[in-house]
Amino acid sequence: MTTLYDLVEGEEGIILKIKGRGQFRQRLSEMGFVIGKKVSVIKKAPLRDPVEYRIMGYHISLRNSEAQLIEVERGNKSKEFPSSNGVLVSEDENGSWIEKSKNIQVALVGNPNSGKTTLFNYASGSKERVGNYPGVTVESKESNYRQSGYDFSIIDLPGTYSIKSYSPEELFIRNYIFDNKPDIVVNIVDASNLERNLYLTTQLIDMGVQIVIALNMYDELKRRGDILDHIALGRLLGVPVIPTVSSKGKGIRELFEKIIEVYESRDPLVRHIHINYGTEIENSISALQSKIKIEENRVFTNIISARYLAIELLENDKEYSENISRCVNSSEIIEIAKKESRRLEKLYSDPIETVITDLRYGFISGALKETLKVNKIERVRKSKLIDNYLTNRYLGIPIFVFFMWLTFFTTFKLGGYPKYWIESGIAKLSSLTSTILPDGLFKDFLIDGILGGVGGVIVFLPNIIILFLFISFMEDTGYMARAVFIMDKLMHKMGLHGRSFIPM
Ligand code: GDP
Ligand code: MG
Repeated sequence: MTTLYDLVEGEEGIILKIKGRGQFRQRLSEMGFVIGKKVSVIKKAPLRDPVEYRIMGYHISLRNSEAQLIEVERGNKSKEFPSSNGVLVSEDENGSWIEKSKNIQVALVGNPNSGKTTLFNYASGSKERVGNYPGVTVESKESNYRQSGYDFSIIDLPGTYSIKSYSPEELFIRNYIFDNKPDIVVNIVDASNLERNLYLTTQLIDMGVQIVIALNMYDELKRRGDILDHIALGRLLGVPVIPTVSSKGKGIRELFEKIIEVYESRDPLVRHIHINYGTEIENSISALQSKIKIEENRVFTNIISARYLAIELLENDKEYSENISRCVNSSEIIEIAKKESRRLEKLYSDPIETVITDLRYGFISGALKETLKVNKIERVRKSKLIDNYLTNRYLGIPIFVFFMWLTFFTTFKLGGYPKYWIESGIAKLSSLTSTILPDGLFKDFLIDGILGGVGGVIVFLPNIIILFLFISFMEDTGYMARAVFIMDKLMHKMGLHGRSFIPM
């Protein structure tokens, strides 16, 4: 991938894509940096930064940090192209240039078990592991998908409830978003658990990234008899919401059509909203924002919104304090952040982090009050009834022990029979072979090598099949997740999380 920064003096390039936050892209396109336009490098400053460029007949200087956010293709065949501003069109003779600019990077972000991997698998036709217990996706996986002439690079990120730096997963996701700057973040929201899932959405909104919400598990929502006006919810959030049932592949086409629309800035619903944190906190935010937003800190604010940095600073996020330390006026910023945090904490007599969390949930419940009608006749769900026993204080562990006993009993006792048959079958086969074949190297090879070797492994096959049958049955029914819950305390005593019971 070539960026404008890579071009040398005198070289020309065609703009393919502009990365960074909406505001930054807006500013650049106002200056004439539009997809498909030719730009040439006039000269680099003595210290090689900034660099003077010519675009549409004007001369403009850009910092290197800004030029790095502009993807170009070397050459000067300026072709008009269905750009973000909707300007059309005359095609490149060989089409290769258009291909490149029609690549959309999509990152999947959502709570654990919201169906990210299921969606990823469906779209990419791959078979990554899905499971309904936490910690299945521990790293990002990338894959490709094509629709309506666009190429999507899809990244399946680990599941997370929040984007602060508490856990390695959270840090990973945040850094991924800021370092790789995906074109669109698809926020997978579990429709049957809206309130908790939308918390992450509020953080993504604060980050100022381009979002499309996949309202997954829509079948669950309908089954419960709840009614959600997802269009109105989208309007409130400023983010399009597309219902999906990714386990059945429903709504995926529509989701990707929407991604294209948002990428091309064609969706009128998209707007960047500010979640209002109340007069006092907002005052603190703007005090910080005005210090962060100075010209010299553009390197950061082109990528991360000053508002987001300010909120995170107030929340006392360590990672962000580190990031802030790279701002030219960092000590001043941190000083103000400390002062404002203290002021707010005195005012609310609560850690400011908790206050902001509460306000986020307040915003969500307000939005849901207007859009979600919960079915009043709350049927006691069968699964809840069963749960009363499976995770019961007294019965939970005996039931768990019973299941484990059943698993291993069946594996070894029941598996013992086919094991015995295989063993005796192989023994018969070897004695038969030894009577038929003349003594010699070949006979030894056949009996001791092939039959002995393969036989020695194959006898365990029945045990393995039965064990894995049990494991996948427990995973698919959701018992594994209960087992994690039951075992958590015990595993904790060994310094492990409950989920490590499964690999153990
Ligand atoms: P991840 O942790 O976000 O990657 O979630 P997974 O993709 O592993 O999915 C968790 C579970 O939810 C799996 O058992 C899926 O089969 C199931 N699932 C995924 N999407 C849907 C959906 O739209 N409806 C229903 N009912 N189940 C789903
Ligand atoms: Mg997953």
